[in-house]
Amino acid sequence: MDRYSRQILVAKIGESGQQKLLRSKVLVVGCGALGTVIANNLVRAGIGYIKIVDRDCVELDNLQRQMLFDEEDVEKVIPKAVAAVNKLRKINSSIEIEAEVKDVTPKNIEELMRDVDIVLDATDNFETRLLINDACFKHNTPWIYGAAISSYGMTMNIIPGETACFRCIVSDLPAPGSTHTCDTAGVLNAITSLIASLQSNEAIKLLLGDKDANQKLLVIDLMDNSFEKLRMKKRDDCPLCRDGKFEYLDKKGLSEPIKLCGREMVQITPQREMEVSLEQLKEKLERIGDASYMGYLLKFSVDKYELIIFLGGRAFVKGVSDKETARSLYAKYIGV
Ligand SMILES: [Zn+2]
Repeated sequence: MDRYSRQILVAKIGESGQQKLLRSKVLVVGCGALGTVIANNLVRAGIGYIKIVDRDCVELDNLQRQMLFDEEDVEKVIPKAVAAVNKLRKINSSIEIEAEVKDVTPKNIEELMRDVDIVLDATDNFETRLLINDACFKHNTPWIYGAAISSYGMTMNIIPGETACFRCIVSDLPAPGSTHTCDTAGVLNAITSLIASLQSNEAIKLLLGDKDANQKLLVIDLMDNSFEKLRMKKRDDCPLCRDGKFEYLDKKGLSEPIKLCGREMVQITPQREMEVSLEQLKEKLERIGDASYMGYLLKFSVDKYELIIFLGGRAFVKGVSDKETARSLYAKYIGV
């Protein structure tokens, strides 16, 4: 317990609170800018069991904000979850930490979150958040939403039966290409660290049964240092809260990527049709790679990959042989 002595001194924690944390189990979904900071904080704070799931490998442009990684992880192309757990075990060898290198899908999410007390959202896309929302409501597990882009970010504790759910807030999956991602709008490391620190602190409060845990949507912009707390109402027509329909969890084949036979190419079909035009998408993408509009399709090259995007959002991802990488590139550049 010595290693936690400074935390035990905090009035709300104490010896009994620390024991509670050591018996707690959490799942961190995503191990990027938010996930590395959340995992780092929770490992040091002595949460007894932490599972980290992520589908990507460490890349050079991650190092600006993904706090557990270094240049050696980039050179060795190590999966983020593995690189994070390797580092975290050196920080605290007395707790259990587990890495899962996979895409979170309707098929595996319930198994991934089995027996955990809280799920922390550190993903970069709406599809996974809506899935977390469904699975957490089904199993009555609190989850902590977090998102950051450019200089602003937001977080909220989503508690089944108490607060509004994520579908009450966003309604439905946005159309592909209609939202910005960190890969199109950029992100400052101060906002990701701040949002992730709030998330890990709220997790500790919830695990301790603290009634003061945040139930509002906290929205922060570091450009003008504005902090807003918004009360989110449950929606009368929410399919999840009102009708108990798990629409994202039940879509077991949700936009399943298809590997095209004999070629280094995977096809992605979005669940909803993309509403922005290919010209609009080109404007967004040409800031970060080569984008050319060919009348009926958009060709976009970045690093060693090429995406061919059709009207409506269907895309071929060239230069990849596995579905997970293709899905991740799609989420990164087109969004959702
Ligand atoms: Zn709802």
